[in-house]
Amino acid sequence: MWTCPYCGGTLGQPFQDDQLRGMLCLQPDCGRFVETKMDLDDGKEWNTSDL
Ligand SMILES: [Zn+2]
Repeated sequence: MWTCPYCGGTLGQPFQDDQLRGMLCLQPDCGRFVETKMDLDDGKEWNTSDL
C-alpha cells in the first residue's frame, strides 16, 4: 500500500504525466505530490542465482 512520506496517510491518487509520475496525497491537510522514482523495475526480484 502506498504511504505518504509527508503525512503518513494512505489515501493517494495516482498521477502520471509526460515528465511526472507519482501519487497525489488526498489528505486535506497535506495534498502534496509525491514523485515516484522510475529506475526500479517492480517486476523483477532481486535473485542472486549465481551464488
Ligand atoms: Zn500526505
